Amino acid sequence: MKSMFYRAFLALIIALSVSCQAQAAVKVVTSTPELAAIAKEVGGARISVVSLAKPDQDYHKVEARPSDVRQVAQAALLVRVGMDIDLWMDAVINAARNSKVSRGAPGYVDASAMIRKLQVPKASITGASGDIHAMGNPHYWLDPANGKVIAYEILLGLRKVDSKNAASYDGNYSAFVKRIDAKMQQWKASMAPVKGHPVVAYHDEWIYFYTRFGLRAFGYLEPKPGIPPSAGHISDLISRMKTAKAKAVIVPSIYPMRFPETVASATGARIVRVPYSVGSMGTSGYINYMDAIVSAVVRGMR
Ligand SMILES: [Zn+2]
Repeated sequence: MKSMFYRAFLALIIALSVSCQAQAAVKVVTSTPELAAIAKEVGGARISVVSLAKPDQDYHKVEARPSDVRQVAQAALLVRVGMDIDLWMDAVINAARNSKVSRGAPGYVDASAMIRKLQVPKASITGASGDIHAMGNPHYWLDPANGKVIAYEILLGLRKVDSKNAASYDGNYSAFVKRIDAKMQQWKASMAPVKGHPVVAYHDEWIYFYTRFGLRAFGYLEPKPGIPPSAGHISDLISRMKTAKAKAVIVPSIYPMRFPETVASATGARIVRVPYSVGSMGTSGYINYMDAIVSAVVRGMR
C-alpha cells in the first residue's frame, strides 16, 4: 500500500518536472543589444535573451567577463553580428565549451551570413594597417530592411533548437516583418525632404542607413574607422564642410562631444545626437530605436 502511494507520488513529481521543462524558456545569448531586441521579437515569451555588450558599450572594444562565459555555457542559441565587430565573442565561445552553440552547431547564428555587405575591401587589408572594418562595414543593423534579414536568421536558429515551437516563431517573425514594412513607409516619407543631403558622422557606421534613405556620406570625424579624431583631420574636415554646406554631424551616444562641438561651432552644422544602442537614450525595442534615429536625423537636417 505504502509503495503504491510512493509510486504515485514519484509519478507526480516526474510529471511536474517534465511540464516545467516544457515551459523553460530557450536561453538566447547575443553579442549586441540590437540582436537581443530582434531575437525577443521572434522568440517572444518562449525565450530568455541576454546581450553580452551592454547599451553604449563600443561593440568594437568589448572586454569579455567571466560572467559572459557562464552565459554562453548555458545558451541554447547564440547570435552574433559577425564580420570583425565582435571578434571578442570567439574567446568567450571557446572558453564556454558549449557544443550546442559552437561555430557550425545548430545553435550558432552569424547574423551577417545573409546580409548584402557594403564596403567590402577588394584587396585584403594587411594586419599592419591596423584597420577595423577589415571585412566590410559591420554596422548593417542600421538599415531596418536588414533588421528583417537578422530576424529571419534568428528564426531559422530557433526552429533548429526548439522545433516543437516553430509555428509560434513563424507567427512572431511574420508579425515583426509586417511592422517593419509599415514603419519603412513612414521612415522613407519623413526622410524624403533630406534625401541627397551631405552628412558628416563621428564613426563610419552609417553606410547601410545612408544607402537605404538616400543620404550622402560626406565625411567622418575619425580619420579612419577606430582611429580617434586629430586636430589636423578636423580642421581639414571643417574647411571641406564649409564649401559643401554639410549641415549635420551624426554623433551616437557613446562618443564624446568635444570634436563634434568644435566642428559644429566652426561650420554652423547641427549636432544630431542619436542612440548608439537599443537601450540608449531611453529607447526600447528595435523599431523604437530606429524611430529615434530617423526622427533625430530629420530634425537635425531641416
Ligand atoms: Zn565600426
